[in-house]
Amino acid sequence: AGAVRFDDVHFGYDADREILKGISFAIPPGGTLAVVGPSGAGKSTLARLLYRFYDPTAGRILIDGQDISAVTQASLRAAIGIVPQDTVLFNDTIGYNIAYGRAGADQAAVEQAAAGAAIADFITSLPDGYAARVGERGLKLSGGEKQRVAIARTLLKNPPLLILDEATSALDSRTEAEIQATLKTVERGRTTVVIAHRLSTIADADEIIVLDTGRIVERGTHASLLRQA
Ligand code: ADP
Ligand code: ADP
Repeated sequence: AGAVRFDDVHFGYDADREILKGISFAIPPGGTLAVVGPSGAGKSTLARLLYRFYDPTAGRILIDGQDISAVTQASLRAAIGIVPQDTVLFNDTIGYNIAYGRAGADQAAVEQAAAGAAIADFITSLPDGYAARVGERGLKLSGGEKQRVAIARTLLKNPPLLILDEATSALDSRTEAEIQATLKTVERGRTTVVIAHRLSTIADADEIIVLDTGRIVERGTHASLLRQA
């Protein structure tokens, strides 16, 4: 599961200004698409359409061949995990923050799960002592630690489709590299859309599209784009 297709997608927040001007791409199940381009190009907007914050004004978005306008938002959002650039955390435990939003679930049980098998790949790759701090209150977390919590929260739903919207762009390059290495292990088997700032973080993407003012101006692999540059 998890094939994603944009088919000549157009979108504007306002009727008189189109933000996405005919976007088409296909990601095979488990594949990674990277989206780069200047600020304001429409990268976050593209991600919001996939999540159905908004619907296209023309064109179609398909997941596993099904037009997402025919899928309920609840089931769509269950299948998609988003990690944003800036994570705002509750002044509570790491476990609470990871488990927050698990509707209907027993909070303590979810906190246990957060430290357990569901996200074992992720937790075990965290710095020493981090897993033990899942129950700690009164957090003083660094930007990198906050993003790790955001990633763990997203992974708890085990989504087949993952959107990383500049998830590590605000971090220093060493922390970014550490988290990127961890993300590679959790991306395996999931279809991933990575909105990126630095080209170095998307060298492994199956396809890179370069957006500029709502159009795809370049597309290719990391190697082919570097050859052109
Ligand atoms: P990027 O992620 O590439 O920086 P965005 O998708 O955030 O670009 O924004 C693309 C364009 O859409 C920008 O001109 C931005 O100002 C505009 N925009 C973004 N969000 C909204 C919104 N909620 N309402 C109106 N315009 C918006
Ligand atoms: P993100 O956090 O994903 O970047 P935001 O909604 O905070 O998304 O805004 C993305 C960009 O869109 C920013 O440049 C912001 O200034 C712009 N933007 C957001 N809302 C509006 C709006 N109502 N009108 C115009 N531009 C907007």
